[in-house]
Amino acid sequence: MTKVTLLKGDGIGPEISEAVIKVLDYAGADIDWDCQIAGAEAVEKYNTALPENTVNSIRRNKTALKAPITTPIGKGFRSVNVQLRKELNLFANVRPCKNIPNIKTRFDNVDIVVVRENTEDLYAGIEKQIDDNTAQSIKIITRDASLRISEYAFDYAVKNNRIEVCAVTKANICKLSDGLFLQCARETAEKYPQIKYREMLVDNCCMQLVQNPGQFDVLLLPNLYGDIVSDLTAGLVGGLGIAKSVNTGKDCAVFEAVHGSAPDIKGLDKANPTALLLSAVDMLKYIGQNTTAYKIEKALYKTLSDNIKTADIGGNARCSEFVRAIIENLEKN
Ligand code: ATP
Repeated sequence: MTKVTLLKGDGIGPEISEAVIKVLDYAGADIDWDCQIAGAEAVEKYNTALPENTVNSIRRNKTALKAPITTPIGKGFRSVNVQLRKELNLFANVRPCKNIPNIKTRFDNVDIVVVRENTEDLYAGIEKQIDDNTAQSIKIITRDASLRISEYAFDYAVKNNRIEVCAVTKANICKLSDGLFLQCARETAEKYPQIKYREMLVDNCCMQLVQNPGQFDVLLLPNLYGDIVSDLTAGLVGGLGIAKSVNTGKDCAVFEAVHGSAPDIKGLDKANPTALLLSAVDMLKYIGQNTTAYKIEKALYKTLSDNIKTADIGGNARCSEFVRAIIENLEKN
């Protein structure tokens, strides 16, 4: 039995976590969940958004499944997601976006992996109020972090039979910071002659993505562009409800949905658990439970082909009905 840290999050987090655990249980996943808390619930209980117990649990177990945790806008505690990435040095955020069978979208040839630097850029959280009318955010790009993420992207490309890495920046405007990122990507590209390399400015990349996404393979981006572009790529294959991801470093991996805590649909039985479920499927593969992972994938795709879908992807099933159908399909296998 593998011990995995579980963060049920808030907003729709608890409902989609329950749904995912149910499916994993039915499929026979051999997991001992180590439940921990973070975010508003932790602030109330321990006066900190990211308790040491939670971080230590992930350090110990090396694998976590994390549901979304709300980040208060403009005030309140710092993003737990960002803190967690820093504490555990989860320097790479990998967001694969591929068409899912039976989810119809404008394009049917999307197979893009967004590799996003996860520890610095504007997310370094260095902000200053200069005066009442002026605020300043500082964008940090370092050589170490840029080389590390570039190597991760090229290494990922080699290990996953990918053809090309495209570095995406705004180096024409942020000449020093994005320029440094680009320089590191170029140096790394030279070490991987078997992988094609190209560069694109982020604005052009967004336009190309919505016009001709089939041209892209692995995208390598600094933190902020990575955040934005990966929501765009999620939209290409059906939206946030199905977009999976992993935050990974040298020692730990935290699997999570790309989407946030969606407070607008909290408790309404409307949330699509697919993104977290697919993240959990990747987690099962990561811990070596491949048979269970493929079984779940098959049951999920069958459910979608039976046209049982939640509202965000054009169906009318409630979250609970969708999960019930997945479980029925698991039982039929
Ligand atoms: P964050 O800044 O925390 O990433 P966000 O502002 O991007 O959050 P989300 O919480 O991801 O916002 O939600 C964006 C929109 O997508 C909302 O309308 C929400 O209801 C919808 N949404 C997000 N996740 C899901 C889901 N799993 N199922 C259905 N709808 C979702």
